[in-house]
Amino acid sequence: MARIGFIGLGNMGLPMALNLVKAGHEVSGFDLFPQGMDRLKEGGGKTGKDINAVVAESDVVITMLPAGKDVRQVYLGSNGIIAQAKAGTLFIDSSTIDVDSARVVASEAVAGGMLMLDAPVSGGVGGAQAGTLTFMVGGADAAFQQAEPLLSKMGKTIVHAGGAGAGQAAKICNNMILGISMIAVSEAFVLAEKLGLDKQKLFDISSKSSGQCWSLTTYCPVPGPVPTSPANRDYQAGFTAAMMLKDLRLAQDAARASGATTPLGADAASIYGLYVGQGEGAKDFSGVIKFLRGA
Ligand code: NAD
Repeated sequence: MARIGFIGLGNMGLPMALNLVKAGHEVSGFDLFPQGMDRLKEGGGKTGKDINAVVAESDVVITMLPAGKDVRQVYLGSNGIIAQAKAGTLFIDSSTIDVDSARVVASEAVAGGMLMLDAPVSGGVGGAQAGTLTFMVGGADAAFQQAEPLLSKMGKTIVHAGGAGAGQAAKICNNMILGISMIAVSEAFVLAEKLGLDKQKLFDISSKSSGQCWSLTTYCPVPGPVPTSPANRDYQAGFTAAMMLKDLRLAQDAARASGATTPLGADAASIYGLYVGQGEGAKDFSGVIKFLRGA
C-alpha cells in the first residue's frame, strides 16, 4: 500500500483522501485550516505538523488546491514541496489550474528527479464522495501507470490525455462546453416560460431530441424534471458559479494565448461574471437561469 500525502482537504480533497484511506492506503493530510485535517483523522487518516513533514514521509503526493497561484506557491521555490520531497516522489495535482502553471510545475518536478501529473477532475463533490470522478491526466507514461491504480480508488473514468498540461487543457475545454450548454438550456427554459410552454413538456421533448445534453438531462436548471438537480434545492451548490467563472476565464486566457476563436466561451464568461457579480458566486452554476430571467 502506498504512503500518500494529501495537500488541500477542502470540499473535493477531503472526500478524495477518505476514499484512499478506505482503500487501505496510509494517508497523511495537510490543509491551512484544521477542519479538513480533523475530519481526515476521524476517517482513519493521519496529519502532519506542516506541509513538508507530510511530503517528506510520502511516496505519492496529491494536491487539491484552489488555483494556479496556490499550486505554484506550494510546489515551487526552496521551501516548496518539490525541493522537500524524496527523489522519485510521484506528484499528482488534481486542482483545476491554467495550462501554463501546470507545465511550469511539471518541468520543475521532472528536473528535480520527480514524477509529475496534472490530473484535474470532473464530477463535483458528489463524485468525489462516491469515488466516481473522471480524471483527465497529463504527463509521462511511467507516471500515469504508477498513478492509475490510486486514481481508480477516487474515480471511475481515468483518461491519459497526453503530455504535461494535457489534463488541464481537457478540463477547461470540457467546462467551456458545460458553461455554454448550461446557458443554452437555461435560455430555452426562459423562452418556454414566456411562450407558455410547460417546462416538463420541454424537458420530455428536448431530452429525447437534438437538444439533449448533460445540462438538460442530469443537471436541469429548473425544478421538477430531474429531482436530483440543484434547482430543486434553491441552487445550493454542487459546482459553484464562482468555480464555473474561474474555469471559463482559464479557457479564455488559453484561447487568447493560443489564438483560438471562442466567441461563445467569451459570452459565457461575461454572463457568469455578471451573475457572480450579483453576489451569487456561492450558488450552483445552474442558478444562472435566475440571472437570465431577470436580464
Ligand atoms: P476548496 O476551497 O473547498 O478546497 C481547497 C483547500 O485547499 C482549502 O481547504 C484550502 O484551505 C486549501 N489550501 C489552500 N492553500 C493551501 C496551502 N498552501 N496549503 C495547504 N492547503 C491549502 O476547493 P474545492 O472545491 O475542494 O476545489 C479544489 C480544486 O478542485 C479547485 O481547483 C477546483 O476548481 C477544482 N474542482 C472543484 C470541483 C467542485 O465541485 N468543488 C469540481 C471539479 C474541480
